[in-house]
Amino acid sequence: MRGIKVQKAQVKSSILEKTGGVCAVCGRPLVHGKVTIEHYIPKYHGGTDDERNLLPLCKNCNRRKGSRMVRAEEFYPFLKARFFNEANEYRTEWENGGEQGKFETKGSVKTEDE
Ligand SMILES: [Zn+2]
Repeated sequence: MRGIKVQKAQVKSSILEKTGGVCAVCGRPLVHGKVTIEHYIPKYHGGTDDERNLLPLCKNCNRRKGSRMVRAEEFYPFLKARFFNEANEYRTEWENGGEQGKFETKGSVKTEDE
């Protein structure tokens, strides 16, 4: 699996706020530098680097999750309610947004509109 190379340094602190500095999955305190940024809707499925789509995870949980699709309510018990809502708002937009990036993504995901 490739590492995620968004502008992590800039994003990280606001992402960490989403859980109060713990892993969104297991609740373990995240040490600075050992945080991995998780995409709620995996890029593989058409998710983007929209901040609402990003969550802090410890390395173990990130590795275990991979690029599966999960439900926030089941998978991220440590996500604060406000950001939880944002994540699902993003998910709704994603579900309604165009034909690409759906669950049954086959082959390559291309942006062909416009
Ligand atoms: Zn964890």
